[in-house]
Amino acid sequence: MTCLKPEGVQPAATGAGGLDFNRFEAMEPRAPAMTPARFRNGKPVKDANVTPQGAYFPKYNILTPHMRSPDYVQMSTAAAITLGLVPGQMHRCSCTRCLNLLLTYPEGCRANCAYCGLARHREAERDYADRNFIRVDWPAVPMEEVVDIVARDVAHKPGGSPFHRMCISMITHPNSDEDTVTVLKKWTDRIDPSAIPISILSNPTTMMREDVARLHDMGSDIFTVALDAATPAIFDRTRGKGVQSPHSWKKYWEVLLDARDIFGPQKFGAHIIVGMGETEHDVLNLVQQLVDLGGHSHMFCFFPEKGSLMDHLPATPRDQWRRVQLGRYLIDYCGARVEQMKFDEHGRVVDFGIPKSELDATIDSGIAFRTSGCPGKFAEDISACDRPYGDSPPSNIASYPFALEDVDIRKVRSQLGMNRPGESYVPGEEFDTIDDD
Ligand code: SF4
Repeated sequence: MTCLKPEGVQPAATGAGGLDFNRFEAMEPRAPAMTPARFRNGKPVKDANVTPQGAYFPKYNILTPHMRSPDYVQMSTAAAITLGLVPGQMHRCSCTRCLNLLLTYPEGCRANCAYCGLARHREAERDYADRNFIRVDWPAVPMEEVVDIVARDVAHKPGGSPFHRMCISMITHPNSDEDTVTVLKKWTDRIDPSAIPISILSNPTTMMREDVARLHDMGSDIFTVALDAATPAIFDRTRGKGVQSPHSWKKYWEVLLDARDIFGPQKFGAHIIVGMGETEHDVLNLVQQLVDLGGHSHMFCFFPEKGSLMDHLPATPRDQWRRVQLGRYLIDYCGARVEQMKFDEHGRVVDFGIPKSELDATIDSGIAFRTSGCPGKFAEDISACDRPYGDSPPSNIASYPFALEDVDIRKVRSQLGMNRPGESYVPGEEFDTIDDD
């Protein structure tokens, strides 16, 4: 049985060199090794050509069947649990609200992003469909089966489908643009986009403006671009020339601006990973730029993904991450501006620039510290895409995939160094009252 639950209480993460932030100089990825020709482009999987039998669950180094989109898609373990395809429970979550459908091919993603478990440099080590991505396994399921289950739930389940949003996540592959269209059509032929709105997590490297327009015309609601890096230098080092990967900051911005024109205000956004060497000022400046364009930012806390080129580096310290989460929420949803905030010589936030009573109320509502992403059906500032434990273990949560309770707020306040008078947090106390069967 799959159970996403605490692995033992861990102290708050400390950054590179024992600092409370991850410095640029300390966050250098390893250089990718050369892959022997016999492992390239999914050759072992394609040569064996094993026919898939229904859903496939990652087994690691047992040859995976020959599965490819648009017939097959991968989904997060949380989505597979929510669909009833995998038995299991998630720590303090009954389900996930976003069905992420990831395109899949034996050749895998042709990019080589340094922080990513799906990257090309892993070809010799693990078949594509067995690779971990944002800390979890991604089962592969026939697209028809996914649509059958969700269409049935929308039509017949009391309360409808548990999913508030579906997201097609593209990867870097020559067929990815066309297959995204086919997967989208398979979905919209059976499921009304007004019942479950659709997001596209794009792959700008292979896309043109007309591709963005086509996905909009077919019923997609929100279009996102995974910039991931907060500055051009970090982008180039982690997903461009620095790791023999094809992406460019310029092309990503071109497609982001196409999305702004085509999808319109509040309907486009960018993913940003915090803690890969940028300063807090860098990332909040980018958040402000996105808000000024009419879009949103979706934040991820850097976690050293096993098997990636950055798996030897420290996760983002919790104090850095909480300051950025709070600053981002204030800019994205509360009308605050980065120019009002004050930063120290390392670019760390030292003053959020709003009255203490407002800051206290924002912290105590807890929403700023939840997973950020495209909205679901609860509220505009609550993400459907809750990605349970995608950027941290449950023992030291970075993005909360559930509404924070009093103990969680006290923990966050202690990480921010902003305890209320007379209040404190005792490490691990949130687990004392939780049944983790
Ligand atoms: S393009 Fe996306 S899936 Fe491919 S390696 Fe980069 S982050 Fe991973």
